Amino acid sequence: MADAHKIDIDSLVAIDVHTHAEVSEVTGCGALSPELQEAADQYFAKAHIHRPPASEMAAYYRERKMMAVVFTVDATTTMGVAPVPNDEIAQAAADNPDVLIPFGSVDPHMGKYAVNQVHRLVREHDVKGFKFHPNVQNFFPNDPQYYPIYQAIAEHDRIALFHTGQTGIGAALPGGGGIKLRMANPMYIDDVAADFPGLKIIMAHPAFPWQDEALAVATHKRDVYIDLSGWSPKYFPPNLIRYANTLLQDKVLFGSDFPLITPDRWIADFETLDIKDTVRPKIMKLNAAKLLGLI
Ligand SMILES: [Zn+2]
Repeated sequence: MADAHKIDIDSLVAIDVHTHAEVSEVTGCGALSPELQEAADQYFAKAHIHRPPASEMAAYYRERKMMAVVFTVDATTTMGVAPVPNDEIAQAAADNPDVLIPFGSVDPHMGKYAVNQVHRLVREHDVKGFKFHPNVQNFFPNDPQYYPIYQAIAEHDRIALFHTGQTGIGAALPGGGGIKLRMANPMYIDDVAADFPGLKIIMAHPAFPWQDEALAVATHKRDVYIDLSGWSPKYFPPNLIRYANTLLQDKVLFGSDFPLITPDRWIADFETLDIKDTVRPKIMKLNAAKLLGLI
């Protein structure tokens, strides 16, 4: 990513590597069915969550002197609804290059079309990575039928970000809204990392109930990182905090999962954790800045 524009890292409070543009200002639609959206609101906030479009997110993050990686999840096949358009998110990022870093999302079930979209989104919009959600998109990441998609991402030296661990999507619905948890086991990502050496991978979230697996994969595979989004730091397991402070201090990244969790709440709770002073800036911004080629 040699063409990434360089930033003034000192004036930056944080880089949030995990935010969702969940509503399109063009179509007015979200990437989830209304039923799943309501269930996610209850799970994360016990209240209705405001979901701003990408352009509004730029103002929100600029106010806080933060940058944010922003994406949608294309689950067209499983949800039966069109995603927030990648192009709209990329355009918002192009309009706000000091704040927003665009990732794309492709539906893994779309085969060659998905591969072509990877190429197109990198060439036309210079997206820096791709978000995958094995539960919502209903696929096993290590199935070789999806490997051409990773191959395309690797060719462009972009990042593949995978949801791992339990998901709030479908939580407390009958049958979890039909969503299967097992697909988000980090051990499937271990296979992908082994088969694509050099591909930069972010495993998103504390990977409950497979936290040890996630720590093992990130320790063993050079180019696999962990983002801490989706959970209040108050609930981080002790081994995650221990690894973040030591062995994995260069590979753990701040992420909120906005709008489900706000960066303000996440950071306030993170401040109460026993993290070394030398490690804090790495997690909040330095590790991400290096990974994203911003410094
Ligand atoms: Zn996410």
